[in-house]
Amino acid sequence: MSTPHKTPPRTGAMLHLRGNALDKGDAVALPLTQSSMFHLPGQPEDFATYGRVDNPTWQHLEYLLSHLEDAPCLAFPSGMGAISAALFATLKAGNRVLIPSDGYYVTRLLAERFLFNLGVTVEQRPTTAFSEGGFDGFDVVFLETPSNPGLDMIDLSAVAQAVRAAGGITIADNTTLTPLGQRPLDLGVDVVVASDTKAMGGHSDLLMGHVASRNAEIMQAVEDWRRISGCIPGPHEAWLLHRGLETLDVRFDRMCSSAQVLAKRLAAHPAVKQIRYPGLETDPSHTLAKAQCIRFGFLLSITLESEDKAEAFINACPLIRPATSFGGVHTSAERRLRWGDAVDPAFIRLSVGCEPVEELWQAIKHALDTI
Ligand SMILES: *Cc1c(COP(=O)(O)O)cnc(C)c1O
Repeated sequence: MSTPHKTPPRTGAMLHLRGNALDKGDAVALPLTQSSMFHLPGQPEDFATYGRVDNPTWQHLEYLLSHLEDAPCLAFPSGMGAISAALFATLKAGNRVLIPSDGYYVTRLLAERFLFNLGVTVEQRPTTAFSEGGFDGFDVVFLETPSNPGLDMIDLSAVAQAVRAAGGITIADNTTLTPLGQRPLDLGVDVVVASDTKAMGGHSDLLMGHVASRNAEIMQAVEDWRRISGCIPGPHEAWLLHRGLETLDVRFDRMCSSAQVLAKRLAAHPAVKQIRYPGLETDPSHTLAKAQCIRFGFLLSITLESEDKAEAFINACPLIRPATSFGGVHTSAERRLRWGDAVDPAFIRLSVGCEPVEELWQAIKHALDTI
């Protein structure tokens, strides 16, 4: 029997959400409505009024996102736009927020640079000791699991329950696994935020993000934030993300399956000093990942012998783009120390793409053999 948090969304039904509501002669592909104004004589009623408030292309994108999350969703122009909306909509002066010290670094910057100045107390804990000290007195607990780039995991169900019992709410950044790989809302988390710039869009040609929650009051506040702050997605980006979502299932499946194959082989390669991939039985995240996630993801990390060797490897492999960000169809990699993450200089984050796995492995193996 499948438990709710292990049941992936029906992506077949998602592909036909629009088609099943069409009238004869309508376009099958989603039209791009690039307009700030709408023809509105008399009372506006329920029609789109103005481009900062609503847009038919976003609406349809949100229809797909809501299907994937099984919860109401709001689209944002970037992952940070979504994270800002969730935090600014739920925090006020005098509140306390807890964030991971080893998660996506711009979330920490947002908290330290802006939330702090508005009278919010910001505390940080490492992912591996996230529950130590409990959650009493925290209004918002922000989670990221697996952490980027360390790939350590937090027990979402246990933390969500403890935070709720202590009177706070949880927000989980689900960027790295997507709703196909992990379902925080089904594990009791209050709000999901994500950068759809990564695997959701999948083609490295857009920035987008979304907020999802089954809490109507929070979603109203997030919608107010979007409309009032003007942090709105452009219709063209919304259209591109919608198009990306139509192939998410195929891409994500290929990427996760390839990552599992590569992780096993990389672990056995003499040039690799250390590897992290939640799908490896020896990985510190494996037990939790097995219980909590649907897939182990497409991100892995390897540590080589030296910074020079790591750079040489990234630049020598013709099937690896030396680039920041992840989740695209092209395999990409970078040394995370260059952004100041607390990692070894030879630590490489590898985002496995959609290349055929044997062709990819041959290229990676050749590069590792020759550095
Ligand atoms: C990239 C990323 C973000 C920020 O998303 P943008 O779309 O770049 O604003 C947030 N969280 C995680 C885990 C990310 O990887």
